Amino acid sequence: MTAMTTPVIELRDVHKRFVSSPDLLQKIVGAVARQPAQTRTVHAVNGVNLQIAKGEVLGLVGESGCGKSTLGRVVAGLHPATEGQLLYKGQEVRSLNSQDKLAYTLGVQMVFQDPQASLNPRQKLHQILGEALHVHKLAPAAEVPGRVDAALAEVGLASEYRARLPHQISGGQRQRIGIARALMVTPDFLVCDEPVAALDVSIQAQVINLFMDLRAQRGLTYLFISHDLGVVRHISDKVAIMYLGKIVEMAPTAEIFGQAQHPYTQALLAEVPDVGRRKRVFTPIKGEIPSPLSPPPGCTFHPRCPHAMERCKQEVPQLRETAAGHVTACHLLD
Ligand code: SF4
Repeated sequence: MTAMTTPVIELRDVHKRFVSSPDLLQKIVGAVARQPAQTRTVHAVNGVNLQIAKGEVLGLVGESGCGKSTLGRVVAGLHPATEGQLLYKGQEVRSLNSQDKLAYTLGVQMVFQDPQASLNPRQKLHQILGEALHVHKLAPAAEVPGRVDAALAEVGLASEYRARLPHQISGGQRQRIGIARALMVTPDFLVCDEPVAALDVSIQAQVINLFMDLRAQRGLTYLFISHDLGVVRHISDKVAIMYLGKIVEMAPTAEIFGQAQHPYTQALLAEVPDVGRRKRVFTPIKGEIPSPLSPPPGCTFHPRCPHAMERCKQEVPQLRETAAGHVTACHLLD
């Protein structure tokens, strides 16, 4: 693979499991029943393969609990993968030397859903923005104020904001500060985890436009995680649909919205209110997403799928190319 085609981020069969020890109540119940209490394993991410090319925006969509935020944290290095490989610019992150590891740590930044929770309430905004420059010794102390002002300007805030505390600005402004903080270390990849979900609709549009402007100006690459297909359609080049820890469909954005093939994607699209029609069409997906503690056998979507066949209860469908650049995991397409 040449440098031209090396993805910024690549995942190869990545799994993330969380193992929890039995709590006191489970131990007591186990002791009464004379059976040892079991550890429990949450299969949050279950064999994900994907590549994100330089300058691309991959939208990652799924219901709450599907594992998309965990996957984002694996990409950002906040959770180590249990199995599989994470590659940054063609190199496996686990085997990077300390200098390349720092380049990955700074190069891949995360923007969180709740800016209030991710900002230290006791720090003024200039301290929040300047912190990474000090910690990683990325700029002489005399240059930091200028870099902070430049970052504020880049996200559309005047330099007067530098002396404010997080609770003295609005939710939309806090998210702009979250973005500015990520930009301070000059990353090339942002993991955006539901970055507009907590904002009013009018503010959402402004923040999405900011993401698009920053992409154009800085050549950024995004993994954009959202449960909102409308938001993802607006910003993404490609969309991956995730269900219970697995990617079940991935295609260019226009294909996903025009020719979705997986029944789960079709169901998600049917849930999106169509404001262009006089009568609102809203078809909720039947049932709830099963627990990742005990995923159903076969196709994990089968208890909710209107097309489920006998085979779906036993055999796991593999993700395979069903059209050019379009992969789907469903037995219907065999
Ligand atoms: Fe539905 Fe079967 Fe396809 Fe799963 S494999 S989505 S259960 S038809």
